[in-house]
Amino acid sequence: METIRFDELNLDPRILRAVTDMGFEAASPIQAQAIPVEMEGHDMIGQAQTGTGKTAAFSIPIIQRLYLQKKKGYKRGIKALILTPTRELAIQIGESFAAYGRFAGLRHTVIFGGVGQKPQTEALERGIDILIATPGRLLDLIGQGFIHLDTLEYFVLDEADRMLDMGFIHDIKRILPLLPKKRQSLFFSATMPPEIERLAGTILSAPQKVEVTPASSTVDAIDQSVYFVEKAEKINLLKSLL
Ligand code: AMP
Repeated sequence: METIRFDELNLDPRILRAVTDMGFEAASPIQAQAIPVEMEGHDMIGQAQTGTGKTAAFSIPIIQRLYLQKKKGYKRGIKALILTPTRELAIQIGESFAAYGRFAGLRHTVIFGGVGQKPQTEALERGIDILIATPGRLLDLIGQGFIHLDTLEYFVLDEADRMLDMGFIHDIKRILPLLPKKRQSLFFSATMPPEIERLAGTILSAPQKVEVTPASSTVDAIDQSVYFVEKAEKINLLKSLL
């Protein structure tokens, strides 16, 4: 695939400057495919692992679209929710929004469990546009009335397969009915087993699929071949190959 540069992706100059300030020039394959789809407002299912640049692939279009909407003036409230399985990922995603959005004047906060909730609820009370959360603490703070999702327009489910492995499926199923029906949803998972496909089906409407093949795990300098032999012949084949 030919390389796409960020300056070919129709980004607002403020967003482009933040991205190029990070030293990024070429979009990674997931970014080159996903950013145009997302900016057109489609729901999307992205099969990509950590390390492929998927965080920028969903945060840049959300920042761009919110920035343009906000310039026209919009009602305050949480506009984007990013659900991710771990505290570490939540923090990393928060850092991405801070970096790519640093000239956009949007506010975000990160919430996760295992720590006191006071700093998190204070940030929520100051008002934010973008919320990055792990599922348990999100439900907890919704239950306490600190979070309202009725103004939401963008929903990202990150690392869906890990969410399932970590037992978050019930939390996710409790969160989904709280989201406005009219929204753009982006669904990311490294793998797509049937259970994940089913979950994606309940979240997305008419999604476009974007897939990046994971980096090859074999070393180019190693030749590989397959030989079909009867079990009894295996040792002889090995001897002759050696
Ligand atoms: P992620 O897959 O989202 O966890 O991103 C992996 C790392 O790649 C992060 O440290 C990003 O800062 C970096 N990165 C993402 N996109 C690009 C890009 N287009 N060019 C260079 N580095 C990038």
